[in-house]
Amino acid sequence: MGKRRNKKKQQQKIIRSVITLCLVLLIGLLSFLLKPWETPDDPNPNDGTPSSTTSGQQGNQKPNVGNKTESDLSDLQVHYIDVGQADSILVRVPTEDGTKNILIDAGAPLNESSKDKITTEYLSDQGIDTLHYMIITHPHFDHASAAEEVIEAFHVENIILPECDPRDTNKAFWRGMLEAMDAKNLEYIPSVIGDIYQIGEASFEILGPVDTSNVKDVNDYSIVIRLDYGETSFLFTGDAEEASEEAMLRVHPVSKFKCDVLKVGHHGSDSSTSEAFLAAANPTLAIIQCGEGNDYGHPKKLILDRLENAGVSVLRTDYEGTIIICSDKEAVFRLTTSK
Ligand SMILES: [Zn+2]
Repeated sequence: MGKRRNKKKQQQKIIRSVITLCLVLLIGLLSFLLKPWETPDDPNPNDGTPSSTTSGQQGNQKPNVGNKTESDLSDLQVHYIDVGQADSILVRVPTEDGTKNILIDAGAPLNESSKDKITTEYLSDQGIDTLHYMIITHPHFDHASAAEEVIEAFHVENIILPECDPRDTNKAFWRGMLEAMDAKNLEYIPSVIGDIYQIGEASFEILGPVDTSNVKDVNDYSIVIRLDYGETSFLFTGDAEEASEEAMLRVHPVSKFKCDVLKVGHHGSDSSTSEAFLAAANPTLAIIQCGEGNDYGHPKKLILDRLENAGVSVLRTDYEGTIIICSDKEAVFRLTTSK
């Protein structure tokens, strides 16, 4: 009887041990499957969207602009066209009379000997036949050399050019642009600081250059533009260097530079985007237009670090191709369907 009781006790002990072991294994298995110690998936995976951009890791990062896969022309659109190591930006403004188009710089063929017509093809693909404004920021090949073919291919209503020393504009591509204008009886509007152009509910103001009488670097002729649409604003800087930035900061209230999106000056060169200018602009997003593996080493690490330390997200055309940023008057967002 006693032996049988002992045997029964032993059996119960074994059963309890087996049950405990099973429970431990079950808990272990569930823990492994649910991975409760892991943080949730990154809501902004590294997929080439603004969330994957070079941005502040210093705890002062600003919220990224949102992404949308659709935008109709009821939004203002800014297309930072991938023209390699060059600048060309298309702004499409919704108005009661349809979409109005502004082209800031015409870019260049991908190499000087090629006949690529990147900008004209891009504008045609957008269904554009009229540019209501074309602004050529300064007489450098990478901004102005495709201007001639743009004028020939499209109906251009107004052209704004910087006032430059003729010695700085004595270049074949600039003369070609002026000849194309002559052929269409087009006169240019000289850029004047403080001039404001209204297009529907959008407006752009010329902030620079402040003084072109003593320009030492052709880049400092660059027309600098602030575009406002509702609560949102964009800053376009051409290749303006620190000397021009300083001059603008001296004559304008700092609020004139505050923007959501900054086109980084001079393709991210370390001679532009000074600490003071960046602090005044205080953008959420910076766009760098530059060519893949360009000879200049643009953008420079100093500028990328400066943007990162300021918590600014960065998008680059050499990584992303053409970048389209839209505004619905209240906020800017990136359109991610087009490249
Ligand atoms: Zn340039």
